[in-house]
Amino acid sequence: MKFLYEDVNWQTVKDALCVANKIHVIAHVSPDSDTIGSQIALYHAFTSKGFDVVMHNIDPVPRICRYLQGSELITHGEDFSALDGCDTIVAVDAGAFSRLGMLSSYVEGKTLINIDHHASNTLYGDINVVDARYCATGAMVYDLIQSYDLSFNEAMASPIYAAVLTDTASFRLSTVTADTHRMVANLLEAGASTEQASREIYQNFPKQRFDLLKYALDSLDVKHHGCSAWISVPYVMYEKTGMGAEDSEGFIDYARSIAGVCVAVFLREESPNIWKLSLRGQYPYDVGALAASLGGGGHKYASGCSLNGSLEQVSTQVFDAVSVCLQT
Ligand code: 5GP
Ligand code: MN
Repeated sequence: MKFLYEDVNWQTVKDALCVANKIHVIAHVSPDSDTIGSQIALYHAFTSKGFDVVMHNIDPVPRICRYLQGSELITHGEDFSALDGCDTIVAVDAGAFSRLGMLSSYVEGKTLINIDHHASNTLYGDINVVDARYCATGAMVYDLIQSYDLSFNEAMASPIYAAVLTDTASFRLSTVTADTHRMVANLLEAGASTEQASREIYQNFPKQRFDLLKYALDSLDVKHHGCSAWISVPYVMYEKTGMGAEDSEGFIDYARSIAGVCVAVFLREESPNIWKLSLRGQYPYDVGALAASLGGGGHKYASGCSLNGSLEQVSTQVFDAVSVCLQT
């Protein structure tokens, strides 16, 4: 095996990059390890090709990605001075333009390349390589880097490993194939740090995260005769514990892991009355369609959206949508 998917055409992307003066690689808002890992691996690959590259996101790099070499070069926020002169933007793992958190005026006149594995991707780029067969956007980056005939070094292999590890829930999802493992074998041979990944991603939580988790587990409830499980954490708990969105990553897995549960729901109050909904589904329940019906998107079995209102209001809205999902 060389490419995970031989039939993917990277040439249009490469042609556009070839004529770029300066490339901005961007991850999505509330970044996870897949988007950051993809961003960093591309940064290393592009710089080794001699391209002028910058990495800038709206939100900061989450704690679990800060061990990756190059993460310290990622700037964030509303100061776009690092982006002066960029004429080409590469967006990784963002299913919709809104997920980049950038104004559309920023992309005007620039070439926007959209590389993503979300089935719900809206094809917002000038060039779109969107393929839901890939278990992670990091795996797409793996193929793109190979198409340049670059050999992987530790700096490229570790972020791709982190991307694949997390987006497959530690190789537990049905998106994992034999070729996924062959790719990982190649990444390990190239020096990907597995031990550091395990430590930094899964064994390096602040104690306050568990105060938040205690609250979240206390809120755990099952509805729809045991077919749906619900967890919610209000904004005040984030304030009290000093924790942020990234610190409740994985909470939904507790809801998902209950026997008989087909749809898991996590409602996290990002700011007063603004809720981030996370959904996890189980075959054949399509929570991607469920999230889309509420204005969001994602994958068939992992999706999300934003909702406004009180907990009671948003819960009722989500309950009705889950009822529809469970009937189909
Ligand atoms: P998570 O629950 O881990 O935040 O997100 C699960 C999946 O849903 C991710 O693949 C993410 O990209 C997608 N997702 C989450 N929130 C949104 C949203 O507001 N809009 C869209 N289009 N996708 C989302
Ligand atoms: Mn992803």
